[in-house]
Amino acid sequence: MSSIRFAVLGHPVAHSLSPRIHQAFARDTGIELDYRAIDATAEEFKTILDAFAHSGGAGANITLPLKEIAFSHCAVLTDRARRAGAVNTLMRHGERWDGDNTDGVGLVRDLTERHRIDIRGRRCLMLGAGGAARGVAPALLDAGVESMVIVNRNPERADRLIDLLGDPGHVSSRYWEDLRSVGDFELIVNATSAGRADAKLALPFSLAHSRFDAVDLSYGEAAIGFLAWARAAKAEHALDGLGMLVEQAAESFEMWHGKRPDTDPVYAALRSESRALHTGD
Ligand code: NDP
Repeated sequence: MSSIRFAVLGHPVAHSLSPRIHQAFARDTGIELDYRAIDATAEEFKTILDAFAHSGGAGANITLPLKEIAFSHCAVLTDRARRAGAVNTLMRHGERWDGDNTDGVGLVRDLTERHRIDIRGRRCLMLGAGGAARGVAPALLDAGVESMVIVNRNPERADRLIDLLGDPGHVSSRYWEDLRSVGDFELIVNATSAGRADAKLALPFSLAHSRFDAVDLSYGEAAIGFLAWARAAKAEHALDGLGMLVEQAAESFEMWHGKRPDTDPVYAALRSESRALHTGD
């Protein structure tokens, strides 16, 4: 009998921390787990996913650049996946894949439970409108963020996200060139991948409210530039996306295995290795 299998699919995926995180959760909860990283480009995705299902694949995490393609291969979607227009978690049910998006709840848990940040009633600036922004924007609004301004280099993509969120009373978009005149914010989320390409965002300090928190969804080297800006702007917390990564994984794990892992030991181990520094916690 072949074992029940899990995987993370993405491209590139060799660097993914997901296999390590899920194996640690499995040890913590006493589950025997076969979880591996599978490289798949957008073109190869369907063929590779079909082969994975054939070989006993029961669940998969989906990472860059496949979240929107995976969404279109799901028979059933959770409400939060539908609102995000992207999935990061697949579950096999009979002959079909069902999809969920745990990125948003992962970020909210990291901010509110690990770092004890109260995000309710805050004015939030979302930089970026890609797959990650789609996942976290609805969750931040659900968690009580008062308003959200979305700014993306490509303005049409920001407007598509606004349409998807369907909450014009609380969400609006502005042009990147207008960042100097959009006012200040109590929560600033960097959901761009600029840091991965070593690109500088050149953000004005006028974006920072006198009391604000900042989070970059990236981690490691990719988060260094934004976090340096946030610290220079006197953020109370300047956080990277490592905690979100661990929390979104825990949410997927619980969905697949029906057990909630303790995220603190895994987070502590990864944090101690991470070169991205954060302050204020
Ligand atoms: P996408 O490719 O879907 O989107 C990339 C986003 O970054 C777009 O909004 C893009 O703008 C913007 N961008 C890229 N380069 C620049 C630049 N030089 N200046 C301004 N904007 C730029 O990626 P994702 O949304 O999936 O991922 C974004 C980041 O979030 C990645 O670094 C990823 O690692 C991280 N992430 C972290 C997770 C976690 O668990 N911690 C989970 C998911 C993602 P445009 O539309 O104009 O191209």
